Amino acid sequence: MTDTTVTNWAGNITYTAKELHRPHSPGALRALVAGSARVRVLGSGHSFNEIAEPGPEGVLLSLADLPAEIDVDRAARTVRVGGGVRYAELARVVHAHGLALANMASLPHISVAGSVATGTHGSGVTNGSLASVVREVELVTADGTAVTLTRDDERFGGAVTSLGALGVVTALTLDLEEAYEVEQHVFGELPLTAPLDEVLSAAYSVSLFTDWRAPGFRQVWLKRRTDRPLPDFPHAAPATEKTHPVPGMPAENCTEQFGVPGPWHERLPHFRAEFTPSSGAELQSEYLMPREHALDALRALDAIRDVLAPVTQTCEWRTVAADAQWLSPAYGRDTVAVHFTWVEDTAAVLPVVRRVEEALDGFAARPHWGKVFTTAPARLRELYPRLGDFGALVRELDPAGKFTNAFVSEVLTGRPA
Ligand SMILES: Cc1cc2nc3c(=O)[nH]c(=O)nc-3n(C[C@H](O)[C@H](O)[C@H](O)COP(=O)(O)OP(=O)(O)OC[C@H]3O[C@@H](n4cnc5c(N)ncnc54)[C@H](O)[C@@H]3O)c2cc1C
Repeated sequence: MTDTTVTNWAGNITYTAKELHRPHSPGALRALVAGSARVRVLGSGHSFNEIAEPGPEGVLLSLADLPAEIDVDRAARTVRVGGGVRYAELARVVHAHGLALANMASLPHISVAGSVATGTHGSGVTNGSLASVVREVELVTADGTAVTLTRDDERFGGAVTSLGALGVVTALTLDLEEAYEVEQHVFGELPLTAPLDEVLSAAYSVSLFTDWRAPGFRQVWLKRRTDRPLPDFPHAAPATEKTHPVPGMPAENCTEQFGVPGPWHERLPHFRAEFTPSSGAELQSEYLMPREHALDALRALDAIRDVLAPVTQTCEWRTVAADAQWLSPAYGRDTVAVHFTWVEDTAAVLPVVRRVEEALDGFAARPHWGKVFTTAPARLRELYPRLGDFGALVRELDPAGKFTNAFVSEVLTGRPA
């Protein structure tokens, strides 16, 4: 146990919990949960809002000191991974067994349990969110009891992207596939007139970047699996030097480019595990919409380019295949995701976040749970048709609301806890 002040990765949130507890054994974890009135788990702290905040009387719990379980079942092509493990450690072990995850986010520094809890995703029109490969969730619930939820349970739709509200996720079992290699091809300026849906579908994983200082995109990143064809890409010219998505940041922080093939886990993330990802001094927001709205959403944001540009470091466009997690921003719909890396200035950024939400209002834009947003709870209920079912699951597994904080309570009821 450490008596300390804890902040998130970005430094824009200071948790008010009096203590950060780091149990060393599953038994100590269960006893701590059973003996506390209010608990939230802190993963790797890469969220930008108060989703992990337990409140001043609550307990903030890190699983980082528990044994880092990563048990690969080669025959079943699955891995059981402990609740505190990060993707970088997981991917190295999985790859050593000749296996792979279907996708990764832009950085490997984030914890698996924290990522799937917020609906974190990578890109690719056929790739679901990271939660979509979870087949089993192991939880310690409010009285310290262990509960396992599997895909054949009708409650499983609420079990993975759960905002940390069901209990402590002590382990997840994930689907794997045979290891594969990926090449990363980066291109320059892409005009607004380019066929957007064709571009977003041009490789296994595609990211488009703009800083809104000019119309169109500044960079196109295509990640091609070497076991699949690379179609011609006539829409933009190949980059001539290694590129970082945030202008001015060192390109050496990024994974290998120029079509050099490499293992899936060293190409699917944009950023290398041993370097600072993104810019480091930033806030982020992201909105996920049905993919058919991509072009109209691009036009709507281009119309407020002069508002966006002063506070934007970079803005990334990706796709996510529909999934079945009730609170996944890609639930039930093939999705286009528009991500903003803002400057590190909450007062300047918040009014612009509201302008983005107004501009995207007609496109059923669901905010990323781990980033900055101001979407009203009443609107969230319209955007997430299974939110009521999720509330019922929370009440079933955690009747006294031990794992509910103000963020979760507002999402579920419109009122802080
Ligand atoms: C530089 C950067 C790049 C990013 N890139 C992407 C991206 O490419 N795609 C994307 O979708 N998002 C991205 N994100 C957002 C990030 O993936 C999410 O914020 C994610 O939740 C981070 O995981 P974490 O472990 O840090 O979560 P935390 O912020 O630590 O926690 C998030 C939630 O999960 C809960 N939680 C964590 N662990 C457990 C557990 N064991 N049991 C129960 N609840 C738990 C917490 O209580 C909290 O509610 C990025 C963030 C940063 C800072």
